[in-house]
Amino acid sequence: MDSVDCIVVGAGVVGLTVARALALQGREVIVLESAEGIGTGTSSRNSEVIHAGIYYKAGSLKARLCIAGRKALYAYCVEHGVAANRCGKLIVATSEAENGQLASIRARAEANGVDDMREISGAQARAMEPALAVTGALLSPSTGVVDSHGYMLALQGDCEAAGGMVAFHAPVTGGRIEADGIVIETGGAEPMALKCRLLVNAAGLAATDVIASVAGFPAAAIPPVRYAKGNYFTLAGRAPFSHLIYPVPVPGGLGVHLTLDLGGQAKFGPDVEWVERIAYEVDPKRGEQFYDAIRRYWPGLADGTLQPGYSGIRPKVLGADGKPTDDFTISGPKDHGIGGVINLFGIESPGLTASLAIAGLVAGMAVDR
Ligand SMILES: Cc1cc2nc3c(=O)[nH]c(=O)nc-3n(C[C@H](O)[C@H](O)[C@H](O)COP(=O)(O)OP(=O)(O)OC[C@H]3O[C@@H](n4cnc5c(N)ncnc54)[C@H](O)[C@@H]3O)c2cc1C
Repeated sequence: MDSVDCIVVGAGVVGLTVARALALQGREVIVLESAEGIGTGTSSRNSEVIHAGIYYKAGSLKARLCIAGRKALYAYCVEHGVAANRCGKLIVATSEAENGQLASIRARAEANGVDDMREISGAQARAMEPALAVTGALLSPSTGVVDSHGYMLALQGDCEAAGGMVAFHAPVTGGRIEADGIVIETGGAEPMALKCRLLVNAAGLAATDVIASVAGFPAAAIPPVRYAKGNYFTLAGRAPFSHLIYPVPVPGGLGVHLTLDLGGQAKFGPDVEWVERIAYEVDPKRGEQFYDAIRRYWPGLADGTLQPGYSGIRPKVLGADGKPTDDFTISGPKDHGIGGVINLFGIESPGLTASLAIAGLVAGMAVDR
């Protein structure tokens, strides 16, 4: 049987950053990807926002890896000529009661190490964005947007330049844990079996299924996951905004916010729709609830200007209480007892922002079988 030092499953942004980090350490790496190209999963179905790291629970993986990853990502984009725009974000309040929440959002951000947030008045916010009807705002100057596909292409290039390889049409269908390695089997037109000393499972929405198909891996170490779809609606025509605009968070979510792509095209969302299966169509009816929510801070939104856009799906890891854990679950040999296996579960937002920091963490915890 052929063997390789490291196998990474999945060529999304996380698999690619991990493969790059391992290849740069001088390790032999092959990425097995079921699709025909890089980044066809969640990595191309997101807001492309470089998050500052504002809302996460202090000390969580999301908080730590978002901030470290954000800094690394901006630097990477400069070094590799990847398009990014540090356009900034406004968190807007539309009532005195919401004004009162801005200070606690800022305090949480500061506890996480986001040290550049500024509270501004409604008038100052309107001077920056005249179309807003708001009573106050927080400015996050370090939030931005990135060309996620350009970023992934650069990662693939780095990985290959360091001797790594990405194999497409190579769906992982099963495998087994052996004493001296992990055997991974792929299907597709050219099925194969490959033995490795390190397996990094970065299969996104399929990560729990992939590791469940590997005989000898303890089922108890695979958490239950539910899917939370996020639907986007795009705006016909140009938006009169140059910053990302987020309302004050509502219970259970960030509220209907506006993000811009690098071309200035605006989209609203993602919302939260719990789903049982992976399907990406957007129900136009969901747009109706967007209008009222957006008009609270942008009364000028005209009827009929929102169109169903696209959607992405968040893998939500459930805790022992059956509720979403609200953090990444990155589990290695110390957690599950199987040397040479690292699983990346629940890599929802801010996974794109955090990707370089996730890779650093994974490369640091790699213990071979
Ligand atoms: C709606 C939404 C909005 C988001 N917005 C942002 C944002 O603005 N900023 C941010 O930082 N993050 C954001 N995120 C999070 C970010 O998109 C993800 O964290 C990130 O893309 C996850 O990357 P991944 O590589 O883990 O998964 P994926 O990109 O899904 O990659 C997994 C890969 O594994 C492959 N695969 C699956 N099964 C197999 C198999 N059996 N064999 C081989 N290959 C397999 C898939 O084909 C896929 O290519 C958002 C997420 C969602 C859902």
